[in-house]
Amino acid sequence: MSTFKAIVVDKADSGQVVRLTDFDEKDLMDGNVTVAVEYSTLNYKDGLALTGKSPVVRRFPMIAGIDFAGTVESSTHPAWKAGDKVILNGWGLGETHLGAYAHKARVKGDWLVRLPAGISARDAMAIGTAGYTAMLSVMAIERAGIVPARGSVVVTGAAGGVGSVAIALLAKLGYTVVAATGRPAEADYLKGLGAAEIIERKELTGTPRPLAKERWAGGIDAVGSTTLANVLSMTRYGGAVAACGLAGGMDLPTSVAPFILRGVSLIGIDSVMCPLPLRQEAWRRLATDLDRGKIAAMTSEIGLADVIAAGARIIAGEVRGRIVVKIR
Ligand code: NDP
Repeated sequence: MSTFKAIVVDKADSGQVVRLTDFDEKDLMDGNVTVAVEYSTLNYKDGLALTGKSPVVRRFPMIAGIDFAGTVESSTHPAWKAGDKVILNGWGLGETHLGAYAHKARVKGDWLVRLPAGISARDAMAIGTAGYTAMLSVMAIERAGIVPARGSVVVTGAAGGVGSVAIALLAKLGYTVVAATGRPAEADYLKGLGAAEIIERKELTGTPRPLAKERWAGGIDAVGSTTLANVLSMTRYGGAVAACGLAGGMDLPTSVAPFILRGVSLIGIDSVMCPLPLRQEAWRRLATDLDRGKIAAMTSEIGLADVIAAGARIIAGEVRGRIVVKIR
């Protein structure tokens, strides 16, 4: 019998139980690549899974953790061989397929992206699914024609993982970034990432008007709900907003006015089932368009034993920037 350490979510009569325990390798699910996991990270969705606040986990027992970086141990997939350095984001990891908070993972080779040259496994997880989603969001507004000369871009949930990386990316690409945060005490942190202007979250939480004064050409929204509705109503003619999160709620109390009167586009971002070519492009861009010094400065590190408590903190909105999880 070969066992390894894992954070396992299970069901009990009293509700969900999460613990750091030994997991038997023979109980790993089917897959054609086995990976020695080196680093994972803590994303908002991991917090939802660990606390049971939302039904993220759809198979029990489940190893939590939606993303990892590591080294291929064995493979029958033509693209991968032992020793290859890989990244995995999403594809149901930690939801329907045994996940990342474990020494080992067995997955489909089609889900893996090669670790870009010059990025370590730890760097990749400091970026994590939050950073990769921020990159997908930046690429989406670029495709919609939002270049720096069009005007500023607002980032909501600014001090969180997606928000922090989005600010660093946009600033490096030459955009003027407006950071919306509920933690004005983090203003220096956000300016250090490259934000030109800090606004308080409450400016975007009032009852949304169909159209409000035009303030920005684009947006990256990690919050949803009233915040996204206000961002849309304040977006300039022909602008575009990428919606990637729901930290403020799942609803969207908006009207069609920004779309039909100002030609504003609302672009949905999904990192989980995102097609491979777009993922590869996002990771290529993260290797070149991100100031990794800024990422290092916003990243803290924990071990597997600290993950459960950290999950509660991210849901309470107490985590700034990114947390990497050192697995071994
Ligand atoms: P974090 O918890 O790190 O950041 C979320 C931020 O949102 C917080 O730091 C806070 O920013 C703000 N926030 C939290 N609660 C509220 C609230 N009630 N009202 C308004 N703002 C709030 O999470 P991540 O950055 O990792 O993820 C952000 C969102 O993106 C999550 O909803 C997550 O599920 C989603 N996501 C979606 C993905 C996809 O594929 N579409 C992939 C990855 C993440 P501040 O303190 O600055 O106000």
